[in-house]
Amino acid sequence: MSFFSKTTIQDKWKDKYLNLLDEQDYLKTAYQEKEDLLCKTIVRLTFATIGFDAALDPHLLCIRNQLKKGINSPELKESLEILTQSVAQIKHSPNQAQTVATELLFDFLLQQYKSHKQQAALHLLKNSIESSKTEFQPNQLFSSIVTAIETETKASPTNILTRHIDIGIISQHLLLFLEQIEIPSIFDQQAQAAKQLLNASNPSSEAFEDILDKSFKLLLKIKQHNQSEQLDFDNFLSHITEQLTALDVSVMGASSSAQKSAENRSRLDQSVSEQMEELQLSSTNATKLEPLKAIINKRLASITNEIEQHNQNEIIHRQNLQQQLDDLVVKIKDMESESSELKSKLKIANTQALRDPLTGLPNRNAYNERLEMELSRWKRYHSPLSLIIWDIDHFKNINDNYGHKAGDKVLRLIAKQLSDHSRASDFISRFGGEEFTMLLPNTNCHSALIFANQLRQTIENAGFNSSGTSVDITISCGVTEFIEQDTDESAFERADQALYHAKEQGRNKCCSL
Ligand code: GH3
Ligand code: MG
Ligand code: MG
Repeated sequence: MSFFSKTTIQDKWKDKYLNLLDEQDYLKTAYQEKEDLLCKTIVRLTFATIGFDAALDPHLLCIRNQLKKGINSPELKESLEILTQSVAQIKHSPNQAQTVATELLFDFLLQQYKSHKQQAALHLLKNSIESSKTEFQPNQLFSSIVTAIETETKASPTNILTRHIDIGIISQHLLLFLEQIEIPSIFDQQAQAAKQLLNASNPSSEAFEDILDKSFKLLLKIKQHNQSEQLDFDNFLSHITEQLTALDVSVMGASSSAQKSAENRSRLDQSVSEQMEELQLSSTNATKLEPLKAIINKRLASITNEIEQHNQNEIIHRQNLQQQLDDLVVKIKDMESESSELKSKLKIANTQALRDPLTGLPNRNAYNERLEMELSRWKRYHSPLSLIIWDIDHFKNINDNYGHKAGDKVLRLIAKQLSDHSRASDFISRFGGEEFTMLLPNTNCHSALIFANQLRQTIENAGFNSSGTSVDITISCGVTEFIEQDTDESAFERADQALYHAKEQGRNKCCSL
């Protein structure tokens, strides 16, 4: 009896062990399958994205080659990181607005919905949008997305949006995107309204669908506007080219008329000198006065006639020339006024492209332009150059507690404080959202940090208020000085890191690195 029960226990352990082995084998195969799928997906993605931007293509090829060594190769990780950085550096042209919006949206959705079915459905949808080349309707896109992610949630189809989409995160993505693109000034109000809607906390799913719809429509309008502006500009250029061609023809006419006049003159000279030679010959050979007189009179009449004829021709030529010159003057005047009109148009367009409409400060594009200039000056003269990145503390709370309009007002007031308290040679820009940058020429890191701390205290003591209630507002910053081996990005990253320390140390702080 006891022998029998011992065997049963042993069998039980043996079974358990074998089951565990089976389970492990199963897990190993499942893992292998997932790894293969991931490999294939990345390869497919590299095929799909080749040609999107020339700067990315070499990285995509490199990733595809490395995948042959398997998914765990350390080089692959490094290449993926380089690719991510390159993607972040791509400058999107206005007509890429829709593509970028779609990219952002799908990046987000693919991170959120990870089941095989959802991922496959999302990839399929994304590919079909990209390859269709027709402009999508926001509502249509939205319902297709819902259908794609619905594949695994059929059990309770109600309220899919509120349960599965983190509306807040999508709003932040779209908000960030609206902050980053150049919005023509005629869309300022619509853009502000869209930002306000996106900032509103917890809208219902129907309201959110409407917000999404409005945001996409706005992006589409911006794209169309930019295209038509480009068309105007092209038309103007071809008009100017036509005028220049006409001017060229007139100038050629004038110069050929002047040439004709010179030819007439030399013909007259030749004719007169021939007549004079004949006169001389006649008078040398003459023996009687009367016939000589007759010959001289005839020759003189002929010379007078030639000169008169020449004068008549000259008058006609001069009139022609004058007419051509008058025409030229009119054309040049027309062109002058058109080119000054174009200059002022370009000046306005340029100012708009480089200014942030909310605060009136230079924007991120202007910062990039100025940085290039300051860096070349810094390299030439070796005088110190410092960079400060400012970020308003807990700014989200200001929006949440006092409303988006109050938030905008705070942005304007802070921008004013920063401008009022810095030197004319310092360059301030609204870099994006509630972040500002400052370039301080001829300033080393130590002095920049002292200056930053004074400015921080000024803002802390400024005393803001919203509808009579006083609101505490503080700001933190990261300071750095450009060093020999720096690129614009490495210095920016250092200042950003210093800003991170300032936030970590409790905010209302300035740190340097
Ligand atoms: P931290 O101290 O860590 O910087 O916290 P924070 O709340 O300031 O930072 P967070 O990045 O969480 O929030 C920034 C907020 O700024 C979120 C966004 O809604 C708001 N924002 C960005 N641009 C604008 C704008 O133009 N107007 C308004 N009113 N708010 C904006
Ligand atoms: Mg920030
Ligand atoms: Mg902040």
